[in-house]
Amino acid sequence: MSSVVLDSVTKVYPGDYLAVDRLNLRAEDGEFLVLLGPSGCGKSTLLRMIAGLEAITEGDLWLDGQLANHLPPRDRDVAMVFQNGALYPHRTVRGNMAFPLEIAKSDPALVRERVTELSKVLHINETLDRRPGTLSGGQRQRVAMGRAIVRQPKLFLMDEPLSNLDAGMRTELRMEISALVRSLGVTTIYVTHDQVEALTLADRIAILNRGVLQDVGTPAQIYNDPATAFVAAFLNSQQLNLLAATVRTPQNQYVLLDFGPHRLTMPWSDPRAYAISQHTGGHVLVGMRPDGLAPVPESYEGPSFFGRVRALEYHGHEWLAYLECGMPAVPVPEPPDPRRRAPGAKNGSGGLSGLMRRMFAPVQEEEPQEQERVGSGIHRRADLIVRLGNRPVWRAGDAAKVAVDLSRIMIFRPDGARIDPPRR
Ligand code: ADP
Repeated sequence: MSSVVLDSVTKVYPGDYLAVDRLNLRAEDGEFLVLLGPSGCGKSTLLRMIAGLEAITEGDLWLDGQLANHLPPRDRDVAMVFQNGALYPHRTVRGNMAFPLEIAKSDPALVRERVTELSKVLHINETLDRRPGTLSGGQRQRVAMGRAIVRQPKLFLMDEPLSNLDAGMRTELRMEISALVRSLGVTTIYVTHDQVEALTLADRIAILNRGVLQDVGTPAQIYNDPATAFVAAFLNSQQLNLLAATVRTPQNQYVLLDFGPHRLTMPWSDPRAYAISQHTGGHVLVGMRPDGLAPVPESYEGPSFFGRVRALEYHGHEWLAYLECGMPAVPVPEPPDPRRRAPGAKNGSGGLSGLMRRMFAPVQEEEPQEQERVGSGIHRRADLIVRLGNRPVWRAGDAAKVAVDLSRIMIFRPDGARIDPPRR
């Protein structure tokens, strides 16, 4: 077993491309940590720096309490599984799995026994005498896993090991990886861009975007209590509703979120109210998952929005409704583009706040909806996405009212960070 600590680790590729930006992260002994994020966010770069396949530009890597920045890969006791298995084509399955032990000059009888035993656990014992070219994708990944596991390293690093497999095989192997790795108790860092894989496999998930760590927590923590708007949006199987609001505290009676044509009031008894009131007169972003909104009759007097149904969409197990409610759409705030950043440039500066200024500049306190600039590419009216379950209660063109579950709305600063701090 092994712990991994990344202390302000930075990777700059040639051409000043900042692939990983001052990242702090810790994987505990025996933990299954998943690195999640969109393609190109720096997950593989991070994994390769831990393996010693990529140099660290700045910051420190500690493996089991030992500074490992310059430790050669072979001295790290790390096994890596890649997306494509990368097996030796002229060796049999047994030969591939045995290879790391043969290199280590282990006793041949012991090697034979361990490989046979492990092949049963991985359900490839029938294929031991075959060559990789005759195996299915799922079998090849099992062999690759076997080869990584066979010498019981201190650390497993897995880089999208399931992404080349079909959906059924992915689910099956996902469950097996989880059971196997946990039974061995080896610290595992697993890279994926698939939120379902991350949520189902991880003890904890670390989410990256554009080389910047966004959030770390258990799957339930980051799903229910995300640190940033990006995390909330990334972990949403449907699109997250993200709206801009002005904060007001009229006569100090309550906190008002003013969306222009719609308003929501939050009583002072709400634990988030004080933190939000600190932004009085300013703008915030409000995130709502489509299942935090529910159709209600027009007479409903609780927190709600009203609008017109623009479209309904059938998803097999559910219907989604797109409501036109006259509120401006807000893009999910992102860290600055790494291609435009010099190494050592200040994080979070420039591009993003500039975007927010442009977005909000035309919004006047009283009637933000009047100021929409549809042609500018910045303001357009948002569709509010509402999850309807398996019955489409509306038809396109209907007037519609939705109740807002205030306990489930998430409130972010214009740069995307949560206003009320997430619990970790
Ligand atoms: P992910 O694994 O999240 O898809 P990567 O870590 O592979 O992302 O890449 C992060 C960014 O760094 C990408 O934009 C990629 O194009 C860039 N990158 C990766 N490897 C190199 C390299 N050797 N030289 C220059 N840029 C690279």
